[in-house]
Amino acid sequence: MNNQASIRVVEEKCVGCKLCEKACPFGAISMIERIMEKEGKTRKRPLAVIELSKCNLCGACVEVCKFEAIVITKSSAPSTINLADYKNVWIIAEQTDGHIAPVTYELLGAGRKLADDLSQELCAVLMGYGITSKAQELIIRGADRVYVVDRPELQFFQDEPYAAVLVDLIRRHKPSIVLCGATTIGRSLVSRVAVPINAGLTADCTGLAIDPETRNLLQTRPAFGGNIMATIITPNARPQMATVRHKVMKEAVPDNKRTGKIIAEEIAEYLLRSRAKRLEFVPEQETTVNLSEADIVVSGGRGMQKPENFALIRELAEVLGGGVGSSRAAVDAGWMPYSHQVGQTGKTVCPKIYFACGISGQIQHLAGMSSSEIIVAINKDPDAPIFKVATYGIVSDVLQILPLLIQHFRKILKK
Ligand code: FAD
Repeated sequence: MNNQASIRVVEEKCVGCKLCEKACPFGAISMIERIMEKEGKTRKRPLAVIELSKCNLCGACVEVCKFEAIVITKSSAPSTINLADYKNVWIIAEQTDGHIAPVTYELLGAGRKLADDLSQELCAVLMGYGITSKAQELIIRGADRVYVVDRPELQFFQDEPYAAVLVDLIRRHKPSIVLCGATTIGRSLVSRVAVPINAGLTADCTGLAIDPETRNLLQTRPAFGGNIMATIITPNARPQMATVRHKVMKEAVPDNKRTGKIIAEEIAEYLLRSRAKRLEFVPEQETTVNLSEADIVVSGGRGMQKPENFALIRELAEVLGGGVGSSRAAVDAGWMPYSHQVGQTGKTVCPKIYFACGISGQIQHLAGMSSSEIIVAINKDPDAPIFKVATYGIVSDVLQILPLLIQHFRKILKK
């Protein structure tokens, strides 16, 4: 990378006040005892030391130090690339067995807006085998141009050939922005691409915009355990790469009248080699409706009080044909498997109706469900933060309300 930075404690200025130790979010600063000599007398004084393997140079310690005893030095070597050579917004179309993944339409929706703001083209990259006919779907959803790489070696996703092909396309066509879904495939793919092309990569973005002055991509994502939203820019490198969280951005609306170019890309044979061989694919067995795609999600939290009470959550979900979700507290307690966790470190859902049952509504949970169309919260604490985002709130004991809801919905849905 072009930018290098270092951090150091100026021993003569450090008084050992410990403010930096308290301010460091990564626990990278501790105090050691040093012997100081002053006016012929020896004294013991604490000195701040920074564990570089834990430090991410966030600068929190520099801000709190009243003695200017911590210094971050940044050497910003001039970028060797000409930023003006790079243009157009790219999205990486994800597909499995020829079916375009829904996150692709969300990328097209977000990408279209960015491309319009830059007055540039929106291009999609479609890799796979027997997939050329799907390119038109991407044009209908907003792409001006689709680069298609249709090869038997790309029938199933494999990191090595997919990454090599994408690196080759990026080097030849020089896009300014590359967006990919923050899915298992997307995360695995673009991290391998960003390194050889020396690009910046912001993972798991929940917001994207163009800075009207600099025309840089503003990449917003939760940071510090979801307590703040950080906006990241990549001013010196191109392309600006980001993965985008599934279900956060709106899908592009199809327009059958749209036209665009489909470009079949020639790829050198050596790029398609893989050291790994796919032997078998074993799909995850979903016991209920797929949580991320469900129109209705019924989630339970610590307020359900014990694992057996999750039978009520499952029953309501079943009656409504919805998916079962959970807060992290219920997962950590071993009441629910991790695959059901909704939130910052779990799944992001965007159903038409989200039931939050005995969930307090901490920011990390809200990060995964607050864009639901209707939120119904049941909580016995009227001051619970979940009521700030809820469309309908029921202040009551969830164990009394859920049987009533189940009974009522069974009656009106005749189930
Ligand atoms: P609590 O906060 O304990 O809330 C329980 C609620 O139930 C309370 O509001 C209480 O009033 C109510 N209640 C109790 N009894 C009843 C009753 N009988 N009837 C009705 N209401 C009742 N959390 C997530 O959910 N998802 C994540 O992905 C996630 N990621 C995280 C990542 C990081 C880095 C960190 C630090 C935290 C993360 N958390 C996540 C944890 C999060 O901060 C909260 O601790 C968690 O969401 C709390 O779960 P809860 O609401 O079930 O429990």
